[in-house]
Amino acid sequence: MKVIQVRCPHCNNPIMMKQKDLLFLCDNCKTMHVRDGGVTVVDYEIGDFGRGAPQGDRVYVPFWRLYCSFNINNVRVEGGSLFKLSNWVKGGAGSSGAIFIFIPASDFDPATFKRLAIMLTTMPPKYASRTDFNNIPRLPATMSKGEAGQMAHFVVITMEAEKPGILQDIDYSLKVNDARAVYLPFITSPQGLILGL
Ligand SMILES: [Zn+2]
Repeated sequence: MKVIQVRCPHCNNPIMMKQKDLLFLCDNCKTMHVRDGGVTVVDYEIGDFGRGAPQGDRVYVPFWRLYCSFNINNVRVEGGSLFKLSNWVKGGAGSSGAIFIFIPASDFDPATFKRLAIMLTTMPPKYASRTDFNNIPRLPATMSKGEAGQMAHFVVITMEAEKPGILQDIDYSLKVNDARAVYLPFITSPQGLILGL
C-alpha cells in the first residue's frame, strides 16, 4: 500500500496517510488541512457516538456542513400548501434565512448520498464534540469544499422533489457563507449506514 507523507502546515509534524483522502489531520496539534494545489487549513468537528448507538462496526463519515443564506424569490405550487423549504428555512418571513446543508464527502453511490444528505439536512444531528477519532476508522473524504457547494443545489431541489406534483417551479438563491468538515458517527449494517447518535 502506498503511504503518503505530508507535513502539518501549523507545527510541521509529519502526517502519514495510507488512504487517498483530501483531509489531513495532525495528531500533534489537531490541525486539519486540505491539499488542492495549495494548502488550506479547514475547520472541523468530530461528533461523539451516543450512548444509545446501536451495536456494530463503528465508522466516522466525513461531511461538508455548509452554512448557507437561502432566499426563495418565487414559488409556484399546485396541489398542496405544504412547502417543505419554508418550514425548513429559519427566520425571515418564511422565505429567507439561514440553513445548514450536509453534503456527504466520501465516495457513495447516488442513493446513499441522497439518503444521507436529506436525512441530515432535514434533521440536523445533535452530538457532543470530541477532539480525536478514538481509534475508530474514518472514511476518506473525496469531495472538495467547492464541489460540495455545487451539490448543495442538488440537495435543495431533491428535497422538494420528494413531493411529486406539488412543486412546479422554484426561483431561489443560495449562498454558502461557511463550510466545515464534520465527521459523524455511524454504524455499518447490512441495511447500510446507521447514524450512531
Ligand atoms: Zn500539527
